Amino acid sequence: TKKQVDIQRLEELDKKHFLHPTTSIKEQQEAGPAFIFQTGKGIYLEDMKGTTLIDGMSSLWNVNVGHGREELADAAKEQMAKLAFTSCFSTFSNEPAILLAKKITDLAPAPLTAVFFTSGGSEANDTAYKLARHYWLLKGQPERKKIISRTKSYHGVSMGATSATGLQGFREFTKSLAPDFHFVDHFDTGALRRLIEAEGPETIAAIIAEPVQGAGGVHVAPKDYFKEVKDICTQYGILLITDEVITGFGRTGKWFGMEHYGVIPDMMCFAKGITSGYVQLGGVMISEQIHNDLKELSSGTLLHGYTYSGHAMACAVGLKNIELIEKENLVENARARGEQLLKSLEWIKSERKIVSAVRGLGLMAALDFVDQNQQPFQPPVSPFIFKEAAKLGLICRAVTLNAQDTIVLAPPLIISKEETEKIIHILKEAIKTVE
Ligand code: PLP
Repeated sequence: TKKQVDIQRLEELDKKHFLHPTTSIKEQQEAGPAFIFQTGKGIYLEDMKGTTLIDGMSSLWNVNVGHGREELADAAKEQMAKLAFTSCFSTFSNEPAILLAKKITDLAPAPLTAVFFTSGGSEANDTAYKLARHYWLLKGQPERKKIISRTKSYHGVSMGATSATGLQGFREFTKSLAPDFHFVDHFDTGALRRLIEAEGPETIAAIIAEPVQGAGGVHVAPKDYFKEVKDICTQYGILLITDEVITGFGRTGKWFGMEHYGVIPDMMCFAKGITSGYVQLGGVMISEQIHNDLKELSSGTLLHGYTYSGHAMACAVGLKNIELIEKENLVENARARGEQLLKSLEWIKSERKIVSAVRGLGLMAALDFVDQNQQPFQPPVSPFIFKEAAKLGLICRAVTLNAQDTIVLAPPLIISKEETEKIIHILKEAIKTVE
């Protein structure tokens, strides 16, 4: 039919012209696009061939209010027709950016009072590193240059964000990275202290950490971990930057992931969930104290700014998205459905020998796999489970980086009890096929 011919043509064009992000080029060239998505509604996606799948990853952990929300389309259209974009450089401003800055600093813990907007998470992290370094220059401590990050961390792909990323594959992609980034084991506060002492505390600008490590395989920190990290920061005068790009705006069952640990950072990076992915937006919230210091000590221009910092239409969508999260109690739903999901995964683990561990917080969850002798599968099974699940109508994610063999789930925050059960059912069937 004509439609089949159209799809075939698109598949060929995709192979020829579209360099996909974070993709095996070989696989893309051999197989072409597995799905050319066309529409989305709630937790479901439909491709051009009419295949329907549950978006068990909220696409990239970000479509939190679900697909196809007219309210967000209307907010975008209204603002775009009125004023899509104007500069926020210098003393120019716009209403949606001002109101969104006010709204998110009201939602965040009290000391975080000001926002710098970016287009996404990598830019948010780069901004945080640059602000931290600039802050120490203004404070007369120019030797505070180093940023400490952690193993299994993911902070994005700009030069600064990749330099802070602990997942080895991303670092090896270019090998030459920004200087002054150091790594410690992700949950080892003893190693953190030793590293700081060895490098010299007066040379450390900041520590960056995800409240729950997402791309690294959903690693949830032990209960007291972040309190200890914060104490170490306070003791040595080091800034704490938290990367809430995934965990911000309800994903973990609280507005921000760090609330689970009772720790307030000096800077907080966010992106993804701020607009549920409907339009590109991210940023960094900074504490009132840092803001005051910058105001007091800075004499020249803050020479850091993206064209799209404070994009009017993006901010209008952000405001509407937060309104939906509040109106529909999605933070609470993420908590309740997250508990259901984790309990069900524990049940799968009790039934299936090859599941060696289950982790999660809110609507972020993971299962690890080992063979019948408790040894790593060679090759890893998670990519096969991922493919089987897709055949059965579920998108999940396989993580094999850093010698892991893990399936990850992060469905939209609007998911219902029945839909959560559906995910569990499909996943269980997919796991059976590799046993
Ligand atoms: N930080 C974290 C924790 C992330 O998960 C991501 C993306 O997945 C990023 C930063 C990078 O964000 P972006 O892809 O919007 O640049």
